Amino acid sequence: MAIETAVQTYKNLVDGQWVDSASGATFENTNPADASDIVGRFQASVEEDVVQAIEAAERAFQSWRYSSPSKRAELLYKAADLLEAGLEQYAEELTREEGKTLGSSRMEVKRSAQTLRYYASEGLNIAGETLPSDDPTTFVYTKKEPLGVITVITPWNFPLSIPARKIAPALAAGNTVVFKPASDTPLIAFRLVQALHDAGLPAGVINFITGSASKTGVPLVTHPAVKAVTFTGSTGAGEHINRSVRLSTRVQLELGGKNPLLVMEDADIEQAAELAIKGGFELTGQACTGTSRVIVMDAVHDRFVEALVAQTKLLSIGSGLQKGVEVGPLANASQLHNVLEYVEIGKNEGAELVYGGEHLTEGDYAKGYYVRPAVFTNVKPDMRIAQEEIFGPVISVIRVASFQEAMRIANDVEFGLSAAICTLDPNRVQHFINNIQAGVVKVNRTTTGNAYNAPFGGVKMSSTATYRESGRGALEFYTQIKSVYHGV
Ligand code: NAD
Repeated sequence: MAIETAVQTYKNLVDGQWVDSASGATFENTNPADASDIVGRFQASVEEDVVQAIEAAERAFQSWRYSSPSKRAELLYKAADLLEAGLEQYAEELTREEGKTLGSSRMEVKRSAQTLRYYASEGLNIAGETLPSDDPTTFVYTKKEPLGVITVITPWNFPLSIPARKIAPALAAGNTVVFKPASDTPLIAFRLVQALHDAGLPAGVINFITGSASKTGVPLVTHPAVKAVTFTGSTGAGEHINRSVRLSTRVQLELGGKNPLLVMEDADIEQAAELAIKGGFELTGQACTGTSRVIVMDAVHDRFVEALVAQTKLLSIGSGLQKGVEVGPLANASQLHNVLEYVEIGKNEGAELVYGGEHLTEGDYAKGYYVRPAVFTNVKPDMRIAQEEIFGPVISVIRVASFQEAMRIANDVEFGLSAAICTLDPNRVQHFINNIQAGVVKVNRTTTGNAYNAPFGGVKMSSTATYRESGRGALEFYTQIKSVYHGV
């Protein structure tokens, strides 16, 4: 008989208080490895909750903006320590609600603590400049000021590290935040907010609202007190938000990708296959920087496909909580539906499915949203599986006759997030770096992964590139410049 464990209900954080939604309703999130496992109940928030959170953030801004940078840093350091102290529990919770392996979740918790510390320190370096003045009686300088209330909206695939890299620079610069996480992964988002709250952030500086985009999205994006919206998610939702924001509201959008890995004749083929698998199948293909197209030179195509399929067959698929598992379930039922649909689309378009792509339904797999990682060959660049973001473990292999053709195909998509090349040829490496249309470029590395201290973002439909996330420059989005002319 199954053991019943009580399902906990989690609250919103508004003005320093853990509160229920005005709707009186909650929603459940479940474990994608076992859909009968309810992870928690969360507030099904409505506009009234969001408006209260924004108003609390607006009030809190009046004093937080003048708080000392070293005090802000101290609080962020403390929150980082609290996150790390809960490492094992939080990694397990993250895996339970998102599905990724425990190893990936541990890395994400550690990385998020590191991000909080990085911005704690970077916040101490926010500085203006003194400028040469033609008038010796006027001292001219600039100062950087916080914006006010920032709305943070995030997806489920990196449900801790993405919020951390938005919230930490926002707070370090003296802004206040209203944060709405994706409804598939509200628990790990709750843990981040709990760490910030317990570290001692004053009431209203960080506010947390869970619920659907349809019930909360309008005030989050259009309320006049919101001075900036930072969003990571699908291109469709990003476009909608972009159309909705006020002229005076800054917007930062990190969207989809269709990331290529180019494999040249001189590449180490086993390593190239390993990189394709790491980039395409780790995180069950659910990374915005995931490898979804592998563009391979004719001369090594067959050897590469053989190595790719052989290594893919060895991947262990199962619940991310199990030891040794390398590929977890998809994050939810609609992800599963999407991926299976794209596998059918690929077959119907005439691509050859040489491995995987089937819905796994036997034994424990039946409880969750499992699909076997898929490899398509004979993919033509204009096929939908070569153009559209699938966001699942599906690799499309495209055969090319020349480096020029590989570059043309690599760039011939609407996205431009991450791109990688496997080669030892320095001329091709330089050409690739200079001509690939991507915000993140890798040489003999996977398309996935980015350093917390390096700028992150894409070109074309992958991001609005005015301000990059991550790294020092991230603070630019959260500050505005005031030019001062001081007569002496
Ligand atoms: P999604 O767009 O469905 O949702 C993302 C978040 O936005 C959720 O919190 C959702 O509730 C909210 N949202 C959706 N529509 C909204 C609206 N109109 N107003 C306000 N909020 C709204 O995306 P998802 O399915 O959670 O995530 C997968 C997508 O995220 C993929 O397309 C992936 O490429 C992208 N992604 C991009 C990056 C990046 O840095 N470029 C990183 C991770 C994921």
